[in-house]
Amino acid sequence: MMPYYIQTKSQDPYQTEVFKPSMSTDLSVPLSQATFLKSAATLKQCPADLGAEVAFCGRSNAGKSSALNFLTDQKKLARTSKTPGRTQLINFFSLSEALRLVDLPGYGYAKVPPKMKEEWQRNLDDYLRGRESLRGLIQVMDIRHPLREFDKLMLEWCESAGLPVHILLTKADKLKRGPQQSTLLTVRRSVGSGVSVQTFSATHGIGKVELTRQINLWMAT
Ligand code: GDP
Repeated sequence: MMPYYIQTKSQDPYQTEVFKPSMSTDLSVPLSQATFLKSAATLKQCPADLGAEVAFCGRSNAGKSSALNFLTDQKKLARTSKTPGRTQLINFFSLSEALRLVDLPGYGYAKVPPKMKEEWQRNLDDYLRGRESLRGLIQVMDIRHPLREFDKLMLEWCESAGLPVHILLTKADKLKRGPQQSTLLTVRRSVGSGVSVQTFSATHGIGKVELTRQINLWMAT
C-alpha cells in the first residue's frame, strides 16, 4: 500500500485542516500505541540507539505535552514528563520495537539554578549531537510568541548540525485566521529552507494530519 502521506499529500501551504475523529491520520507509524519507555538524564542512559525517533522540544508552557497527547490520542501520555523529577529528563515513548517519540526537557525555566541549566544543556547537546536514530526535531512554539531567543539558538544549532526541524505554531486557536496565516508566513520567511512550519492546536484539533505526515516521512527514512 502506498504510504499515507503520498496518497493525501496537500501542497497548499496555507491549508490548515481541522481534525475530525473519523479522519485517518496514520497508516504506517502507530502513534496511538505510544507507551512510556524510560527517562534518561544522560546520553548513556538513553535506550539502545537503534531504529528511528523524533524528538519534541520547546519552551516550558508552549504546549508540548498537549501536542504529544493530542498526536497520540492519549490524555495522559506526556504527564509522565511532568512528573516531578522527570521535567529535566529526556523521556522516551515507544511506538513499536524500532520507533520512538522523545520528549525533551522544556527550556526557559527561570527558576532552574544556572548550574543545573548548564548540566542539562550539556546533556541535551550530547543527545542531539550523538543520537544516531534521531531523524528530526519538532520544535513547539506558542503562535503568539514565536522565535524567542532560545528557540532561535536551537534552530541555529540544528541547522549547523544538519538536523531537520519542523516547527509547530501551537495554540493557533488563540488567533483569528488572518493573524494565524500572517504569523505562519513571517516564521516561514525567517527560518532556513530546511525548516518546515505549520499551525497547530491541541485543543481545537488543528494540524494533526500535517504533523503525522511529517513524522511518517522522517521515520520512513
Ligand atoms: P508544555 O509545558 O509545553 O508541555 O505545555 P502544556 O501542554 O502543559 O500546555 C501549557 C498550557 O497551555 C496548558 O494550560 C494547556 O492547557 C494550554 N494549551 C496547550 N495547547 C493548547 C492549544 O492548542 N490551545 C489552547 N488554547 N491552549 C493550549
